[in-house]
Amino acid sequence: MVLVFAEATNGKFKKAAHEVVTYGAKTAKALGTTCVALTLGTVENAGDLGRFGATKVYNIAVSNGFDSGVFAAAIAGAAKALDAKVIVLSHNSTGKNITGRLAARLDAGSAPGVNSLPEVSGDKLTVRKTVFSGKAFADVEILTDYKVISLSGNSIPVEESGSAVDVETLSVDLPSAKVKVLETKRAEGITPLPEAELVVSGGRGLKGPENWGVITDLADALGATTACSRPVADVNWRPHHEHVGQTGVAIRPNLYIAAGISGAIQHLAGVNSSKTIVVVNKDPEAPFFKAADYGVVGDLFEVLPRLTAAIKAHKSL
Ligand SMILES: Cc1cc2nc3c(=O)[nH]c(=O)nc-3n(C[C@H](O)[C@H](O)[C@H](O)COP(=O)(O)OP(=O)(O)OC[C@H]3O[C@@H](n4cnc5c(N)ncnc54)[C@H](O)[C@@H]3O)c2cc1C
Repeated sequence: MVLVFAEATNGKFKKAAHEVVTYGAKTAKALGTTCVALTLGTVENAGDLGRFGATKVYNIAVSNGFDSGVFAAAIAGAAKALDAKVIVLSHNSTGKNITGRLAARLDAGSAPGVNSLPEVSGDKLTVRKTVFSGKAFADVEILTDYKVISLSGNSIPVEESGSAVDVETLSVDLPSAKVKVLETKRAEGITPLPEAELVVSGGRGLKGPENWGVITDLADALGATTACSRPVADVNWRPHHEHVGQTGVAIRPNLYIAAGISGAIQHLAGVNSSKTIVVVNKDPEAPFFKAADYGVVGDLFEVLPRLTAAIKAHKSL
């Protein structure tokens, strides 16, 4: 059996949960077994995960707030209780915190941050993941009885293959929490960068924070999330949570538009897994053009407003 941990935020599932259940269902099919989903804490419409291929949903009551030790114990307990040998979770901030602990509890081999469905041969699983900041792939065979896989966001399309299923409460022994989350403040109204499918990003070529309107106007027209290069955040033109790259957020949106960013290797390390990269730079020799799917050599202060106007005109058709 494949067990998928489907995380809910404020009781609701996000795209990452649907992706991971889709992945679990396809993996289970390849293994000739079934996929069940696990939710922790209070979740609305948990049975809805059946639409993405879970044949049943289990819920374990945990006190509100995230504690990686408690979450890992809950998932490991469920895997043992249900005899699920393959455990799949999202490679988001929660997943990154849990994967190692979970694998240790199950004495499992783990493959964190995989990008594609596994190759199945008997009960052997081989998964592919990017390494060296997205410059190469590694194929990883998991040799252990229990296998833990975390899936990078935006790696596979969400697919609906069923309908809502039953939710059953599961009871497992949990350790007491070692930390207490006092408060979580979330940015309202925008998709956080790790989940964003469309990203518009600006660099030092913007010349100053007062010019950011060209970036936000384009982002608004597209319904995109905004990002920036590191020097821009370092001088407080933009908030640090927008900084993408090796030392910032690593993203893999469907579309990454970079304006006034040179394309230094440390920047590319966080964005080069984007499906389509569009670069706007006035320097035809800017290194970013080598990584771009589409490039516009031009002044961003002319190009971006025209692009924004064209998108608005197209949307009003
Ligand atoms: C250890 C380490 C870690 C790092 N981590 C990161 C990281 O995580 N993320 C990151 O981004 N950087 C990181 N850096 C910094 C990185 O090396 C680069 O210095 C940085 O990415 C450059 O930012 P930039 O492209 O905005 O600025 P610049 O390199 O100054 O490039 C500005 C670009 O704007 C173009 N431009 C100027 N005016 C216009 C205009 N009017 N229209 C169009 N184009 C224009 C220029 O041609 C130029 O290509 C790191 C560096 C180190 C040493």
